[in-house]
Amino acid sequence: MAGPSDMLSILTELPEGLLQCNARQLITVLSGPTLIKLEGRQKDVLFVSILLHGNEITGWEALRSMLSHYRDRSLPRSLCLFIGNVAAAAEGRRYLPGQTDYNRIWKEGGAMAEHRLAQKVLAELDSMPLFAAIDIHNNSGMNPHYACINRLDPPFLHLARLFGRTVVYFIRPD
Ligand SMILES: [Zn+2]
Repeated sequence: MAGPSDMLSILTELPEGLLQCNARQLITVLSGPTLIKLEGRQKDVLFVSILLHGNEITGWEALRSMLSHYRDRSLPRSLCLFIGNVAAAAEGRRYLPGQTDYNRIWKEGGAMAEHRLAQKVLAELDSMPLFAAIDIHNNSGMNPHYACINRLDPPFLHLARLFGRTVVYFIRPD
């Protein structure tokens, strides 16, 4: 059942059938952008966002594989998963006509519904003991795999190097 495509749902368990869905099928189980909070043995939370662009399905495939692995055992660490543009993913598009690009909504003060969605996600994160926050995008063009960071402190560089040998530093988009 599809709801408003910018309303945030918050869940504390994996919905039945979620892991059987590919990115296009998520809309059959989720009503729209969804935050799923799962408790693990370590209480500090790993935040992962995926499908900020509906046609970049790598993040969902990675999380789907990881969550399937831990299906019958506890997660080593609490996980907060943000599944972003479910409606666009259903159509294999970056975002839908009339939507704001989910990768351009994280700066405070925007007027669109998607900005309010992002602020809700950030408010939820404010209430959690965060371990790290990771966003997974597809690569585009003939690029090597790379990891992006927004700060140059050693912990950020360390985390980035777990994903790739190439690290890109950027501060825009927010
Ligand atoms: Zn992207």
